[in-house]
Amino acid sequence: MASHQRSTPNREPQRSPDENPETALETARRQLARAAEYLEIDDTVLERLRYPGKVHEVTVPLERDDGSVDVFTGYRAQHDSVRGPYKGGLRYHPDVTRDECVGLAMWMTWKCAVMDIPFGGAKGGIVVDPKSLSDDETERLTRRFTQEIRDVIGPNTDIPAPDMGTDPATMAWLMDAYSMQEGETTPGVVTGKPPAVGGSRGREEAPGRSVAIVTRETLDYYDEAIEETTVAVQGFGSVGANAARLLDEWGATVVAISDVNGAVYDPAGIDVAAIPSHDEEPEAVTDNAEGTRITNDELLAVDVDVLVPAAVGNVITEDNADDVRAEYVVEGANGPTTFAGDAILAENGVHVLPDILANAGGVTVSYFEWLQDINRRTWSLDRVQEELEAEMVAAWDAVREEVETRDVTWRDAAYIVALSRISEAHEMRGLWP
Ligand code: GLU
Repeated sequence: MASHQRSTPNREPQRSPDENPETALETARRQLARAAEYLEIDDTVLERLRYPGKVHEVTVPLERDDGSVDVFTGYRAQHDSVRGPYKGGLRYHPDVTRDECVGLAMWMTWKCAVMDIPFGGAKGGIVVDPKSLSDDETERLTRRFTQEIRDVIGPNTDIPAPDMGTDPATMAWLMDAYSMQEGETTPGVVTGKPPAVGGSRGREEAPGRSVAIVTRETLDYYDEAIEETTVAVQGFGSVGANAARLLDEWGATVVAISDVNGAVYDPAGIDVAAIPSHDEEPEAVTDNAEGTRITNDELLAVDVDVLVPAAVGNVITEDNADDVRAEYVVEGANGPTTFAGDAILAENGVHVLPDILANAGGVTVSYFEWLQDINRRTWSLDRVQEELEAEMVAAWDAVREEVETRDVTWRDAAYIVALSRISEAHEMRGLWP
């Protein structure tokens, strides 16, 4: 396929070559370009997918508990909605940027497509350290942010959800603020809510459960017995802790886990069920787990079969990818592997099960939650788990088929599945006007 040449400068400022290109947006675009090489996609569709449909930037003033006022910046990046309403989390973190939201929104577009759920991709957030806010301040900030983005979200347009630094309580405030302004209770405007206000059972554990399911399917495919498998998990938040607990329950030995202060390694296995997750008790890993203390970087290089990076983005890079000794990397976090790091892992024969498949249980149960909200009917935990299991196995299988027929990496295969569905939808809908 001939590449699409522009005769005039691009819409973005040119980047000088020595600037770090490994932002979420750059990584997302490089991955897109790479996957597109395998497919016959209309160049103009591809060009559209490199950019967000819209990015909303808002100013969010907050009255502090002491009566003073601070002003924060918030974003909502809406990447693509050809397959359904925009969907994706809200992140409260000091490093949130416009470009990061766009890159993460692109990943949501691919994630929903690889799962074949009828949503597009979005991501947003506020540039703020949530640890610097009291609960009351978080509530006021969330309500004001909701008001600022109210015109661009809604159950049929854009449906936020939790991400780093936000949780079910944040989603309940968002739902309440939106509903009060609309004059009607609208649970479908946001997912990841507490069950009391229309949240789904099983939503919080869903991303960790999908990491565990994808790990189990992959081990099985390569004829590895889960009972003989060792696992290291970076990050013990809802994704890492739930993945670790399920893998442990299914017979694997979890030998290393970590929190923000460091990691713990015990070759005999760690009783992960007994250690509270970050949400239950922050920093419980380094406070409670027995074993040798190592650093978070050392955890990535531990001699295990499966490595689950489930903390933050950009942890496996060209500087340390060669140190990874695991045969399987199952991405619990969004974007834990940089583009350059990924190339090294592929060269070393490490199978990387990408974020857009592995942690997609979160948005999949978000979809179940949205269905429950708009149908005004709740599902049992058993039903949620059964349907999640079926959706994950189907998506894993679609990706596996591409791995086999095209002899590509699991990441490329997942992108090929996603991109084929998205580009087909764009081509069918066409461009108007
Ligand atoms: N923030 C989660 C993710 O990155 C969930 C998004 C959602 O449920 O909409 O997948």
